[in-house]
Amino acid sequence: MEGIVRSWGRILSGYSPSLSIEITRECPLRCPGCYAFGDEHLGGGLTLRDVRDFKGQALVDGILALVDRHRPMHVSLVGGEPLVRFRELDVILPRLADRGLHVQVVTSAVRPIPAAWASIPRLSVVVSIDGLQPEHDVRRAPATYDRILKHIVGQQVVVHCTVTRQQAIRQDYLREFTDFWSAQPHVRKIWFSLYTPQVGEESEEKLRPEDRARVVTDLHALAAAYEKVQMPRGMIDVYAEPPSSPDDCIFARVTQTISADLQTRITPCQFGGTPDCANCGCIASAGLGAIGRHKLGGVIPINPIFDASIGLGRLVRKWRERSADDTDTPAIVPEPGV
Ligand code: SF4
Ligand code: SF4
Repeated sequence: MEGIVRSWGRILSGYSPSLSIEITRECPLRCPGCYAFGDEHLGGGLTLRDVRDFKGQALVDGILALVDRHRPMHVSLVGGEPLVRFRELDVILPRLADRGLHVQVVTSAVRPIPAAWASIPRLSVVVSIDGLQPEHDVRRAPATYDRILKHIVGQQVVVHCTVTRQQAIRQDYLREFTDFWSAQPHVRKIWFSLYTPQVGEESEEKLRPEDRARVVTDLHALAAAYEKVQMPRGMIDVYAEPPSSPDDCIFARVTQTISADLQTRITPCQFGGTPDCANCGCIASAGLGAIGRHKLGGVIPINPIFDASIGLGRLVRKWRERSADDTDTPAIVPEPGV
């Protein structure tokens, strides 16, 4: 509850409570259905592989400058593969913790997660695992099950599975997955997203309406049966009825997503391009959607209050930017490749 109230304060003062940064364009994996390297991810023309990339002190300074400028409460560091920049993260993560931020690093665990990260306060290491070993090892080599199991030793990671149609049509697949990862001592939590296509996309990954309905039922059952599946009922229900558009998506409206050049904004949400909101399966969107659909005291809906707060926050931001026009210091964006 305290987190929600503080986030509301950030919205009212014209800041986005959440910042997501693609800290590198590099990734040793080639996962089918990866949105980050999609042609339309950055709006067309330029792809993630084409943008400038930072290393060393330039990356450390650039990330900290972005955070200081946007003043979020929550930071997601994604890629590419963030562990490609583990040396820089060794410096960045404690500095973000010193600022009191909640930080999430989303990784394939293709290389060992540094031991020191296990004791950084408010840090979550989220490991993407796409299904059971036979399917995952094909989709996400070289970040195979064997490697992940070795690389998470000493950590308490969050396992994040994106459910594709290939998984959804197999009876008991998600239960077998949950059985396996729930039994791992270095896993503290398990989350499921659903594959989110672009508008007009027809792919093997995209769930059909009947798949989605079945997965929603399965997730309710898993959340009830496994302590580590930490997904509230309201959040899973949003998967059955996702936001109708980015304007209807609280997550998209309170999160700034920035690419590896530390400048390019990814819109309307982390997927970029033209995501198919009606088929969204983003866990962050579902989590915030559940809050927005909640009714205070069972009567007053939160969504309209939230809309009004965003409108007010925009006015405050405009006023602040106008009055700071002559004095504001722009974010320091270092030169790439240092
Ligand atoms: S690890 Fe992530 S960024 Fe790299 S190819 Fe796979 S989905 Fe894309
Ligand atoms: S997170 Fe989902 S609902 Fe929100 S804008 Fe992106 S695709 Fe649409």
